[in-house]
Amino acid sequence: MARLNTFPVSVKVAGRRIVIVGGDGEALAKARLAVKTSAEVVVFAAEVETDFSGLEVTVIERAVEAADFDNAALAFVADHGPDGARALEMARAAGVPVNEVDVPENCDFFTPAIVNRAPISIAISSEGDAPVLARLVRARIEAMLSPRLGELAQLAGAMREKVAALLPDGVFRRRYYEALVTAPAIEGALAADRGEAAADALLALHAEAKGGEGVVWLIGAGPGAEDLLTLRAQRLLQEADVIVHDQLVPGAVVEMGRRDAERICVGKAKGHHSFSQAQINTLIARLAREGKKVARLKSGDPMVFGRAGEEIAALRKAGIEYAVVPGVTAALAAAADTATPVTLRKVSSGFVFATAHGADDGDLQHWAALAGSGLTLGLYMGKSIAADVARRLMEHGVSAAMPVGIVVNAGRADKALYAGTVGALAAGEIEFVDGPAVIFVGEAVAQGDWARAETIAAVAERVA
Ligand code: SAH
Repeated sequence: MARLNTFPVSVKVAGRRIVIVGGDGEALAKARLAVKTSAEVVVFAAEVETDFSGLEVTVIERAVEAADFDNAALAFVADHGPDGARALEMARAAGVPVNEVDVPENCDFFTPAIVNRAPISIAISSEGDAPVLARLVRARIEAMLSPRLGELAQLAGAMREKVAALLPDGVFRRRYYEALVTAPAIEGALAADRGEAAADALLALHAEAKGGEGVVWLIGAGPGAEDLLTLRAQRLLQEADVIVHDQLVPGAVVEMGRRDAERICVGKAKGHHSFSQAQINTLIARLAREGKKVARLKSGDPMVFGRAGEEIAALRKAGIEYAVVPGVTAALAAAADTATPVTLRKVSSGFVFATAHGADDGDLQHWAALAGSGLTLGLYMGKSIAADVARRLMEHGVSAAMPVGIVVNAGRADKALYAGTVGALAAGEIEFVDGPAVIFVGEAVAQGDWARAETIAAVAERVA
């Protein structure tokens, strides 16, 4: 992810002043922004060319002086002449962050587009690059949020002491607040001026139930791109108290959880077994028993080579509530990346997803028969043994001309494609790029769009 060159913060301005230097339309625009706060807004201009009446600002008709910056929290300079230049110097000397309107190089800070639901504010900033885009984003957010959001926030604030007394556990407290700000009944009660009574009633319910039981959600994170996550997965990640994830789940997806959610990486990358499967089973059951909502995040689909079966068995044995949220499995992401139909009328009547890792001769024989009868094979965990698998498929009767396609890092920006035949794969010693891979074998594979794929050539052909 690109890094920000500015850091969004909220500056305290209550009881302080915001100084605006300049008397034209630019100054007026900043004055309009500044009066959204409770700061004292003071405009200094030797010549006032526009009408500030109707805004709660003090207009002083003279050039600004050093003393005017006393107790200022922020300053805007909308005068690009010598008075403005002096104002910049004085503000800096007084240690007041300053913004020269539309001159980014003279700005200590930028003003974001603001969605105001005091005490909640949402700032959308483009670091000065694309203010129009920032305003469009603001319009969307405005439309999304209840106009009562500010009242809800105030209500939550007013409940704080009572909630702390009745719900000492942080997890249950958070759950109460979540219910408070999302329940339509509370919004209705606010409209009827009965907000606090409704909040009290909800609190009594939560105190009685002690916040309820824990749960484990087995969530598929998809092949790696954040936007291939389901909306349900995204919502539950936001709700989870703990996120227990595998190594293969990309950081950006793990980041989508709440900022204060605990995150536990249980490893399981090839070669790093930091947690055994038994330890994982015990861990998620224990967390749920503590009353926590656990997101067990797995790459792809949790039910495909994800050992979900074992985790579910452990949860059922312990009597813990669970749910499975599907994700895009690697082979289907690979099919999408290459527009390969894994089923195709008159060519492939079905597909088989299998793990090449640990496959014995009986498995290979079986798959060879399936591929021979027109099914598409999607082999997981087979990149390092790809040539060997191809060779053994041929031994069991798969034709050397049978199409093969391999996708490394499917569903991600850094995907790499390789295409050829079983014969070429068996003979070639191909160097794949790093990353997990799916190997397709079958007649339907040739129908995919592998134009950007590197050709898997047999060693003999390469030499020739
Ligand atoms: N539950 C996962 C599979 C986990 S097993 C799923 O449904 O996709 C790990 C194997 O999945 C890897 O060895 C590789 O074969 C495959 N895999 C996972 N992510 C992949 C990706 N982005 N591209 C290609 N293959 C991937």
